[in-house]
Amino acid sequence: MTITRTTCAYCGVGCGIIATEMEGGVRIEGDPSHPANRGRLCSKGLALGQTLDHASRLAFPTIDGVRVSWDTATRAVADRLTTVINEHGPDAVAFYVSGQLLTEDYYVANKLMKGFIGSANIDTNSRLCMASTVAGHTRAFGGDIVPGDYADLEEADLVVLVGSNLAWCHPVLFQRLRAAREARGTRVVVIDPRRTESCDIADLHIPVMPDGDVLLFNGLLAHLDACGTAPAAFTGHHVDGYAGAVAAARSEAPALAAAIATRGIEAEVAAFYRLFAATEKVVTVFSQGVNQAHNGTDRVNAIINCHLATGRIGRPGMGPFSVTGQPNAMGGREVGGLASMLAAHMGFSDHECDLVQGFWQSPAIPRAAGLRAVDMFDAVHDGRIKAIWIMATNPAVSLPQAAKVREALARCPTVIVSDCVKDTDTQAFAHIRLPATGWSEKDGTVTNSDRTISRQRAFRAPYAEARPDWQIICDVATAMGHGAAFAYESPADIFREHAALSAHRNEGSRAFDIGALANIGAADYNTLAPTKWPQRAGERSQTRLFGNGAFFTPDARARMVALDHRPSPAVPSPDYPLLLNTGRYRDQWHTMTRTGLAPSLTGHRPEPLLDVSPTDARSHGLADKGFATVASPRGRVVVRVRVTDDQKPGELFLPMHWSETHASAALVGTLIAPEVDPLSKQPAFKSTAVSLAPA
Ligand code: SF4
Repeated sequence: MTITRTTCAYCGVGCGIIATEMEGGVRIEGDPSHPANRGRLCSKGLALGQTLDHASRLAFPTIDGVRVSWDTATRAVADRLTTVINEHGPDAVAFYVSGQLLTEDYYVANKLMKGFIGSANIDTNSRLCMASTVAGHTRAFGGDIVPGDYADLEEADLVVLVGSNLAWCHPVLFQRLRAAREARGTRVVVIDPRRTESCDIADLHIPVMPDGDVLLFNGLLAHLDACGTAPAAFTGHHVDGYAGAVAAARSEAPALAAAIATRGIEAEVAAFYRLFAATEKVVTVFSQGVNQAHNGTDRVNAIINCHLATGRIGRPGMGPFSVTGQPNAMGGREVGGLASMLAAHMGFSDHECDLVQGFWQSPAIPRAAGLRAVDMFDAVHDGRIKAIWIMATNPAVSLPQAAKVREALARCPTVIVSDCVKDTDTQAFAHIRLPATGWSEKDGTVTNSDRTISRQRAFRAPYAEARPDWQIICDVATAMGHGAAFAYESPADIFREHAALSAHRNEGSRAFDIGALANIGAADYNTLAPTKWPQRAGERSQTRLFGNGAFFTPDARARMVALDHRPSPAVPSPDYPLLLNTGRYRDQWHTMTRTGLAPSLTGHRPEPLLDVSPTDARSHGLADKGFATVASPRGRVVVRVRVTDDQKPGELFLPMHWSETHASAALVGTLIAPEVDPLSKQPAFKSTAVSLAPA
């Protein structure tokens, strides 16, 4: 019997797990010593032991479907990338990576693409999840920083959930919030166009307009100013842009009044404003309902504005709080997994480029951001990108305009896929398939939504010929002639370099600095307890940031942003008269490549259901449990109907998980437009104009 402390493979809560390998299987328990979950787990985490089935695994490398040795596969990947780079330049290749990768995997992928291939064309599926938060944080704080700690949910007197079905998408945080509410009467407000399971503990649900977050929080800012809740002592010393943001917010008052009157939510909005103004300890949790919008970055800043205006940030029980979708979305942000970041939270200024290139001693460095996810696959489609390496993700299901993504992959001369599972929709297009280790075999670190770095530890040998992602990438880099820079023998070697880069020539201005861990020994890395960044040499890690009013802008002052309400481009029309919202189910994860294997999870919602209001069901001739066709200009899906009062008339909801692999004709991505936020380039999954008819 072996007992291993590790971290959950799914959401950004980052729960600690105790995995006990014993005869007949693996026992999974919550780790009581982990600060994220303190022993709790949700249904997905508890079922991890059911997902280690070898029948689903990719066992050995293949080229055009033929089994080959690792040497042959590695050589082929290196040769194909090198040929394209030599003939068409470095920007003709791309990596599309994943928040499922460990930080060490991410680090070497980014180093190879940006430092040694010389292109910034590496983007991650985290672009679909939290890029708007990165842009909003950076605009307000001078860096991509989550100020708070999960314990704030238990110390707050008011928790506002915006665009977040915490009950299903971050269940352990919801459990913690519910327990706090029972213990101390925490008030809970849910702001969401539909009634979700999170409303079960809400004092107030505001079924906001689908594109109404900026209007709503602008209205809150104007209210806070009008009733004198904004402490001039804080804003005067620590914030720029207060007057402009309030003026912009006030100018939106007529539009807000009209919108909430049409929606019939005047009383709820007024009650929310009163409650927020009267409560000092407020945490505002936000997630994909905020990020996945045409104005996602503005929505993030509209929320942050209200916390900056009131000085409710960085102290126990208060602050804006982004909760990320994936287990290592934050780790990817730290190493430059986004095409818009270089490494260690740096951008593409000449100083930062020189700094990173000097540290890596690399032959090249891009001087500008690369192609973000939607643009990247457009470039594959139109032939600018001729070779793409997709790691641990399934863009043929998860990206907008999925049919076009599939066309792009079908016409791309070289598609390389490394993954732990076989038979994903994306792998159907792969010329070269590389088997990667999966959860239980992987070894490295992840960072969760409150900046806690945790170890994910291996407790099983790699399945068949599977190899760790970092090793696959380093072997390819070596075959491309960059062996000296990728001569790591373990994830600990990579982590030390990552930590050293975060502190390299860092004069204390950069937020992400874990220089204290740059010399961590192998034994200490193996036993590393959950720890928060930043962690500068000679300093303790910091639980909360900004409590002293010092931000990471050059003048240490935060920025409030003057925001205008920009209506969504997804406008109902006679041909497409309804708005489609998308999201997650409690017991499934992304495209179900892992959760789809667990019998205990498939029972919750065995198939995708289209949530339709009784009004729309009647007017479209639909019956509960009958089938409907949902169509947009890009495609159509057929799906079973659930008639529910949770849904407002004119609005529909579909889960994101299913595809042909799971014998379903409900591939939501085929409906979604390639509409993105102009700053973050995050797709607007939450609002698509569609038609509805009986199937
Ligand atoms: Fe895993 Fe998230 Fe559930 Fe925790 S809440 S057990 S991290 S899926």
